Amino acid sequence: MNIIALGTSGTYPRFGRACSGYLIADDPVFVQIDLGTGALANLFRYLDPANLSSIILTHMHADHVLDIYPLRYYLQYNHRENDGKIKVYLPEGGLEVLHRFNPGGDNGNFLESVFDFESIESFDKYGDDFSICIGSLYFRFRKTDHVIPAYAVVIENRAGRKVGYTSDTSYEESLINFFKDCEVLICEAAYQGEQGKKSLHMTAYEAGIFAREAGVKKLYLTHLWPELNPEVSRKDAEKTFGDEVIILKEHMVIEI
Ligand SMILES: [Zn+2]
Ligand SMILES: [Zn+2]
Repeated sequence: MNIIALGTSGTYPRFGRACSGYLIADDPVFVQIDLGTGALANLFRYLDPANLSSIILTHMHADHVLDIYPLRYYLQYNHRENDGKIKVYLPEGGLEVLHRFNPGGDNGNFLESVFDFESIESFDKYGDDFSICIGSLYFRFRKTDHVIPAYAVVIENRAGRKVGYTSDTSYEESLINFFKDCEVLICEAAYQGEQGKKSLHMTAYEAGIFAREAGVKKLYLTHLWPELNPEVSRKDAEKTFGDEVIILKEHMVIEI
């Protein structure tokens, strides 16, 4: 499978940079994880969005979900081949949040005419984790430590190879074992310095410790605060990870 970074900028976009979005491609399965500002435009480089298998929104912060609106309009005028709706998985209460964004008010069908929403909490539950299969891919979800309910994700393909994505989280020790056995970790690192602001985000320094403790082979940092010098973040993370760290950028492809 390929993980294509469509948006890696934390909180707001910049020129050539988009907010959170990742396309998981295991042809013919195409799953979009998060859809922040600019991620939809970047998605068009790879895929007609009408052909997405499903969409996962890890939490309802604007920098992870806003492009669902332009996608809704695109789908209104560009139907899917089988005319079916696209499944959107999101945290409980997420649909109500999306309805509030709708300036025309909720007419009960604005988003539902093209999307079929289902809460992550309705998936099968094993211990702390919710899980679901989408085609050839198996997804596991666990709550992170963030200001609103947010889910970290581990994606596993048929060969048993795993990639983890932290979504947004502070450094939370109980989350580390969720990523054990992942070859690759896409880890948020919004801040710099040694310690993050608890209950919001991680520093790059903490991301390095987090990934080392999880035992992942490759660490990619994402969701850096756009004002920061990424080279400083990379060096901070390498200090604690003990190996090469890559700053994820738009259109980078992680092959696994
Ligand atoms: Zn965010
Ligand atoms: Zn967030």
